[in-house]
Amino acid sequence: MQSDTAILYNYDYLLNRAIEKLPKRGVAKAYDIPQLEVEYEGEHTVVKNLSFVSERLRRDPRIVMRFLLKELGAPGALRPDNNMVIYKRISAKSIQDLYARFLESYVKCPTCQSYDTELIREGKKWYIRCLACGAITYVRPV
Ligand SMILES: [Zn+2]
Repeated sequence: MQSDTAILYNYDYLLNRAIEKLPKRGVAKAYDIPQLEVEYEGEHTVVKNLSFVSERLRRDPRIVMRFLLKELGAPGALRPDNNMVIYKRISAKSIQDLYARFLESYVKCPTCQSYDTELIREGKKWYIRCLACGAITYVRPV
């Protein structure tokens, strides 16, 4: 008798083979999305990998920063290395929650759930263009 585990294994194997045949497009799935790394310098909060994360998400770090600061109602700035300092002590949980909201609103394609998207600004109109399915989704400017 064949066990359920063996069946699942075969299914995974076939699925992985199918995925391998798809063209590689960089960041695509939720598990590929890096988390923000937060540390503290006295009463300041530093997002020490904002530059790296923004690059992976194809987003301008200034957009990610503006979104976070607006939602936190706290002052902050980008450092010369494009990482971010918030002039207030903010819990890592608050920052992760907001980051999750940013991903939902400004990165993820609502049509196919891919994170492989671009944020395009045309004057006052902002939209997400999905590189996986081509869908256009209008979003509120940050
Ligand atoms: Zn899509």
